[in-house]
Amino acid sequence: MAQITRYYQHLLRRRDKPNYVENVRDIYSAEELQSLLEACNPAERVRYFFFLLTGERDKEVRYTTWDDVDFSRKCVRVTAKKQLDFKPKDKEEREIPIPAALLSALKEYKAEGSKNNPYGLLFPTSQGQPDKKFENKLKRIACRAGLNCERCISKYGNRCSMGPYCGKWFLHKFRHTFATNCLEAGISVRSLQEWLGHSDLSSTMIYLKYVRRDDLYDIIDRSAMADVATSILSCA
Ligand SMILES: [Zn+2]
Repeated sequence: MAQITRYYQHLLRRRDKPNYVENVRDIYSAEELQSLLEACNPAERVRYFFFLLTGERDKEVRYTTWDDVDFSRKCVRVTAKKQLDFKPKDKEEREIPIPAALLSALKEYKAEGSKNNPYGLLFPTSQGQPDKKFENKLKRIACRAGLNCERCISKYGNRCSMGPYCGKWFLHKFRHTFATNCLEAGISVRSLQEWLGHSDLSSTMIYLKYVRRDDLYDIIDRSAMADVATSILSCA
């Protein structure tokens, strides 16, 4: 064993360790989502509900077609589209179950139909093309509704107090929110890995860090150290 350790010591040194910070996975609160969704028009609302309730990546939503939505099996599929030159990440197609509320919203939205939609996309541009502006549109809705934090500056130097640039509103945050909510609702990490399309389980396990049990604060508030803090801080 010692021999093996010595051997590997030559291959990897302490300074070879990857040097990066694991970013906190920011998620939307229920109040933030409610304010945003109230500020949306019906089509926008379906679009961002779709992000929130499928956890799909921006590009995956962009290329989702009506053929991918299975109303009878209550799921949506992420599939390759040769004609649009789209392949899912890691070339793995998958299926994500969707809640009844989203299914009925999609049904209603489909019935209204978009006339100019040659590829049958769920959320095409007005020219019927894949839409690359979902994030800009999200920032514009947040700004219009007065939901910017008013403090941040974008990487291009734009202040969110001046326009639709708030860093608090971004598409991947829907995916983080979806993942954390699934785990809090008791979905297994393995199922979530499938739904998110992670080839590596460790990417999914990151979300376990953010799971909060409902009774967590009851437990920590009852701890001995919390008692000490309560008695000292209440006297101060
Ligand atoms: Zn901001």
